[in-house]
Amino acid sequence: EQKRLDALKDLPAETTDGVKVQLAANIGLPEDAEAAAKFGNQGVGLFRSEFLFMGRENIPDEDLQFEAYKRAIVACKGETCVIRTMDIGGDKPLAYLNIPHEDNPFLGYRAIRISLERPALFMPQLKGILRAGVYGKAAIMCPMVINVDEIKAVREAVNKAMAELEAEGKEYSKDVELGIMVETPAAAVMTPVLAKYVDFFSIGTNDLVQYTLAVDRVNPQISKLYDHFNPAVLQLIYRTIKSGVDNGKWVGMCGEMASDPYAAVILMAMGITELSMSAPSIPKVKEQIRSVSMDEAKAHLERVMTMETGAEIREYLHSKI
Ligand code: PEP
Ligand code: MG
Repeated sequence: EQKRLDALKDLPAETTDGVKVQLAANIGLPEDAEAAAKFGNQGVGLFRSEFLFMGRENIPDEDLQFEAYKRAIVACKGETCVIRTMDIGGDKPLAYLNIPHEDNPFLGYRAIRISLERPALFMPQLKGILRAGVYGKAAIMCPMVINVDEIKAVREAVNKAMAELEAEGKEYSKDVELGIMVETPAAAVMTPVLAKYVDFFSIGTNDLVQYTLAVDRVNPQISKLYDHFNPAVLQLIYRTIKSGVDNGKWVGMCGEMASDPYAAVILMAMGITELSMSAPSIPKVKEQIRSVSMDEAKAHLERVMTMETGAEIREYLHSKI
């Protein structure tokens, strides 16, 4: 089986009738972007930048971040490298951030909520990404967005970062895309509005499932309820993809669901154009995509959207695809 999957490395991720999807890698460190190449990834759909912030005594400075992002961007060889701004909160406390103890850190002071309040943290990150963008195709992605104000504030911060780089005479890219993770139900519901303010959406199903179903993503006792095929989750995903397509913005997915080959088929039928996952998952997803036509995928999607439970949907997809 390994040989069969290895042989897929240089083949396109496309349906039997030629509809393509970009299969990108999720990474935590810049060197992971280099290692992903042996699985045939096309760029990086999620660089979890918080790894640069962990295991340290202080905020990583602009130059350190610039070097890390540049390395990942270069490894993407002209494909997009989506860099997520710091997604840290009370569940992964960093001494130098001085975040007070919280009873509900997953609903607390975290991610973009911290970045927007602390320019000393956010500015070096934005400037590092903008500078690294000179070496390829970079995108900035904001985690945990729940409303339009946040993305407007991020846009302002990016403009300010550019003005500072200009004044400092440092080289930077003016074509860095700006997008958000759709990983809260609020964002998913508001995607028709949010689409006007972003270049792309990337659906973060790890959190979207958790927040939509009110099921803790790391609690084994309730893991049976944690299901990306739950129809409530599927409706939010479909809405998000349609909102992007209607507004001419690309939509991807970087949560674990993207690595489920059965999910990939119906996500493509919904109109998704990028799936980002841990690199070793890429060949299996590609193999599944190459086995169906878009007409078949659309027929499956139509059936699935009439079903009432996640179990029914899973059973259908596993028997029909
Ligand atoms: C997600 O929430 O789906 C996601 C990709 O981000 P993380 O797993 O880092 O929260
Ligand atoms: Mg998340």
